[in-house]
Amino acid sequence: MMLIPTHHFRDIERRPEYLQPEKCVPPPYPGPAGAMWFIRDGCGIACAIVTWFLVLYAEFVVLFVMLIPSRDYVYSIINGLVFNLLAFLALASHCRAMLTDPGAVPKGNATKEFIESLQLKPGQVVYKCPKCCSIKPDRAHHCSVCKRCIRKMDHHCPWVNNCVGENNQKYFVLFTMYIALISLHALIMVGFHFLHCFEEDWTKCSSFSPPTTVILLILLCFEALLFLIFTSVMFGTQVHSICTDETGIEQLKKEERRWAKKTKWMNMKAVFGHPFSLGWASPFATPDHGKADPYQYVV
Ligand SMILES: [Zn+2]
Ligand SMILES: [Zn+2]
Repeated sequence: MMLIPTHHFRDIERRPEYLQPEKCVPPPYPGPAGAMWFIRDGCGIACAIVTWFLVLYAEFVVLFVMLIPSRDYVYSIINGLVFNLLAFLALASHCRAMLTDPGAVPKGNATKEFIESLQLKPGQVVYKCPKCCSIKPDRAHHCSVCKRCIRKMDHHCPWVNNCVGENNQKYFVLFTMYIALISLHALIMVGFHFLHCFEEDWTKCSSFSPPTTVILLILLCFEALLFLIFTSVMFGTQVHSICTDETGIEQLKKEERRWAKKTKWMNMKAVFGHPFSLGWASPFATPDHGKADPYQYVV
């Protein structure tokens, strides 16, 4: 017995040709499962390289201008260890934010067969992305840079050359946090260095000539101040949007809340992993997001 499908499509653009699922065919060569995620976007790749370069510049000035020439070994060793650990965690978070699939929806799955296989109830609405031909789960958005629909997309960040979405938000938040921390740490060290070196003979303070030392330190100061402001604002906004469980896009679009309201603590655990542990601060601990139904439809 043939059942006449009672569901219907709705898409944001409301262009009639998008209502034809026949037009959607799965890509001829689906990527191998578990393949590395990397966005080939020139601007994003350039920004990511600049990010690494800036961290390595800070590393160079902190080590070779301030800590190694200093004769206070305890001060140098403790600050060197702390700074290197934080810088390492920042770069590791950057790699994981960049190379983790942010939650891409399978491309071209809006085929007639797939929609029929979902066995929708009458009155249920399926959102279809007109750009990548995929069935859009609730709260997913299409990213024009990634050319994919991303679950719980927050924004596309060129600095990590990736979208910030359901699966990599933790790494992005850690990245902003560690960059803010190394910036603050570098600023404090520059402050101490200036205080100390104005009292002592300047030539004993650095292995570089005084003008070079001053230029290197001032550049580091600018860099650290700029990034401290930028990343701590970003960190605050991210934590706020995680606690209120509302992505950046949803806040911009002032979308009506269709999802269940949970406590702040539960929302934090949904992003950073369950239960609360040291793993929250580690970019190497993959959070268990819980296998929620990827296709949550709104009736
Ligand atoms: Zn899409
Ligand atoms: Zn994107």
